[in-house]
Amino acid sequence: MRAGCKMRVGIDLGTTYSAVARYDQANSRPVVINNTFGKELTPSVICFLDNGDVLVGEDAKDMQAGGTGAAAAAFKRAMGDQSFTVEAAGAQYSAEDLSAILLKKLISDAEAVSGEKIDSAVITVPAYFNDFQRKATIRAGEACGVKVLKIVNEPTAAAISYGYSGSSEKTILVYDLGGGTFDVTILEARKGGIEVKGTDGNHLLGGKDWDAAVSKFVAEQFLDEFGVDPRDDESAKNELIVASENYKKVLSRSDSVTIQLKHDGNAGKYTLTREAFDAMTEPLLLATREVCAGLISSLGMSWGDIDEVLLVGGSTRMPQVEAFLRELIGARIVSNSDTDLAVVKGAAITAALYAGDSKKVRAFEIKDVTAHSLGALSLRRDGKAYVNEVMIPKNSKIPASVRKPFRLGEGNMTDVVEVYILQGESADPRDCHVLSKVSATGFENDGGGTEIEIEYRYNENGVVDVAAYQGGEPLIIESEPVPEDTGWMGEAPRPAERAVEKSVVICVDMSRSMDKIVDGVRPLDEVKRETAGFVRELAAEGAVFGLVGFGDKVGVIRDMTSDQGSIIGALESLKVNEYGRGTDASPIGTAAAMLSSRSGVRMILILTDGKWGKRDAAVAEARACRSSDIVVIAMGFGNADVSFLKQIATVDEGAIFTTIRGMGEKFSTIATAVKKGSMGLREGGSSDGGKKERIKTR
Ligand code: AMP
Repeated sequence: MRAGCKMRVGIDLGTTYSAVARYDQANSRPVVINNTFGKELTPSVICFLDNGDVLVGEDAKDMQAGGTGAAAAAFKRAMGDQSFTVEAAGAQYSAEDLSAILLKKLISDAEAVSGEKIDSAVITVPAYFNDFQRKATIRAGEACGVKVLKIVNEPTAAAISYGYSGSSEKTILVYDLGGGTFDVTILEARKGGIEVKGTDGNHLLGGKDWDAAVSKFVAEQFLDEFGVDPRDDESAKNELIVASENYKKVLSRSDSVTIQLKHDGNAGKYTLTREAFDAMTEPLLLATREVCAGLISSLGMSWGDIDEVLLVGGSTRMPQVEAFLRELIGARIVSNSDTDLAVVKGAAITAALYAGDSKKVRAFEIKDVTAHSLGALSLRRDGKAYVNEVMIPKNSKIPASVRKPFRLGEGNMTDVVEVYILQGESADPRDCHVLSKVSATGFENDGGGTEIEIEYRYNENGVVDVAAYQGGEPLIIESEPVPEDTGWMGEAPRPAERAVEKSVVICVDMSRSMDKIVDGVRPLDEVKRETAGFVRELAAEGAVFGLVGFGDKVGVIRDMTSDQGSIIGALESLKVNEYGRGTDASPIGTAAAMLSSRSGVRMILILTDGKWGKRDAAVAEARACRSSDIVVIAMGFGNADVSFLKQIATVDEGAIFTTIRGMGEKFSTIATAVKKGSMGLREGGSSDGGKKERIKTR
């Protein structure tokens, strides 16, 4: 290996075959680097032998054919799928791990053959690869110790290798029909570069559907002749599918094929003409036309705007494809003789662009688009369902970014904004890929309807990134993997998520009597303990709290906050007599003022054990609360006066007399009522014959 020489390559990491190419500066063209078997294409197969050896490529394919060891093939289809693993020699391999093993082999072969060290690469992916799959591909490349310069879409790479040698300006339709997928990309090729206009596809349509048509023909003929359907036997069915692919390929070069099938003691022999094959598979071609037509019209173009069609993918070798397109478009059809190598050569040209390897390459510009819309989970306008709100639509040019305001509700004191990031076209989030749950923190929030901005981005690799800002300053962003169960996204949002705010001011009697031991406990200690539990329970629902102490005077100990730690800390440090030894002052007016700017459920919770001095003033303040929809709950114990509690409570059920030890149970009743947003405390209406109104939230 030549010391100090660092090479940049393009790698086509294919489902069945892979390849490596480099840019030849002397001749200004991409060249494929053969593997150590002297072949341009390396099978994308890995074989784990029982003795611990791992074979990759040609050797692995031979072993796979011989049925030795555990073979992994076509793992590219499972890229980014967390549930896919191959178990071999006691270890589990994800598609990403397997891709890294394959890449390592491709790189080491290319280094051995070229005598140069590879330090960076451009890797190709299908245009429809989503964020998970793109990130997994980048990680697989980095796991081999090479810098991944760029991820480039396969049809774009094919067009680059083709468009690179062209000189005039043309609109090209890349028609890519592979084994299991169909993709169409429309781009403009000009001397100085390639600009992708849009891409679309049907990923349930490919060569295997043509194989299935042959299988069906053979099985039906056999059934007619012998009364036995070979498809009823699983192994006969599989053999027929494999054989059908070969018959199909024969029909690409001959006008007919003779098919022999032995099954269940019978032997059938049938002839399938290309004409009959073309007729039976015409609906499949029509399905590809639908996809092309959809893309053309979404780009505001017509068929007549297409100058050339570039055929990519093994299935375009079927003569019917070219004939169909010629009739449909009439444009020049470029059957790329280099079908298998166009992608890797395009990747090599792209790699050279990064290196600035030659003037010719540097002057070449590539503009691509994203195949998937990027969105965020949002509430539908009526608040009754979740929807995927598209932020960057599919076929937007990449890199792309958009900033959207995110406004918190009035009175929402939260210090974290969570956004679920989705990729897909459906309005129903369950039909989209949930990429991540992103949390933004570090913003200032005074509860007055704070606004931050969320920025959604696609980078030039089609990889997603999210940022957040307040007043132009970046916020802290953390991204969590999404929990497996996202079924709740299809359910109606819970009332709590419909942003019904809940604000509670807790007013604690701190007079001398709260220190007097009753039933073996100090009332203030019990109040601290039970109130802290109540705060924790409701804080989990997003409630906001304030804390007021009273005795002969009233003091605001904590103003409204969503910080439960701050409230619980303040509760713990409460001391008797801080506001005087008696209970001459009413906390209701102070608490009501704290709630005046808040909306949703607003509640004053009074905890007292004595008889208050200035009762009339307290009752007047409580009445004012009722008229402004603030609920007063009065919980008394010890020497508290039940009839007075009823006078200040908004509804009779809100006057709660309890023993010190029974306080916990009463707190849970109140918490449940707050959570439901129904403050009547007892289902079925108030006990006073409806004299007092049920409390509504506003
Ligand atoms: P690709 O994913 O591009 O490698 O394409 C694989 C598909 O191309 C498979 O369905 C193959 O059966 C199909 N294919 C390859 N060669 C031919 C051929 N000569 N005629 C018809 N189909 C072919």
